[in-house]
This record gives sequence, structure tokens and C-alpha cells, in this order.
Amino acid sequence: MQLIYCVHCDDVFNPVVRNVCACEKTSTTISDGVVVYKGSYAFPVQLDERSMMLALEYYRKYGVMTRFSGWFPTESKYFKKE
Ligand SMILES: [Zn+2]
Repeated sequence: MQLIYCVHCDDVFNPVVRNVCACEKTSTTISDGVVVYKGSYAFPVQLDERSMMLALEYYRKYGVMTRFSGWFPTESKYFKKE
């Protein structure tokens, strides 16, 4: 899952659902399935969906929250800096 983090306002948003952060200094467009982000405060965030799903399954089964993985991709086929 691809998200965008704005370090200016600490907003994290899904660029498929919304294309601008709360302070409007970070924005996105989607072009050919690639999230194009702009603004000096913008950082792409890639969540490891597999680890998130396993954590959710564990939570549903045992009621215990566990961590899941994510990272700031420097280069990705899913993100491009404008
Ligand atoms: Zn912002």
C-alpha cells in the first residue's frame, strides 16, 4: 500500500483517496498507476501489506496488537517525485 507523509503537518494520506495533505503543502497525482508527489515536505511510505495482513490476522485471532513493516522507498515503481 502506498501512502504519502507530509512532515510539515504530520498528515499521512492515501493518494488514491485524497490528493492533498491537511496543510496543502504536499500533493499528489496518479499517472499510469504511479503516485507522483510534489512538495519539499512529501515522503512516500510503502507499507508491507503481507506483514500488515498477518498482524491483523494475529490481532483478530488473539486480540494482541503486533507491529508490521513499512519503509520510505527512495526509488519505486509506485512513486515518482515531481
Ligand atoms: Zn502537509
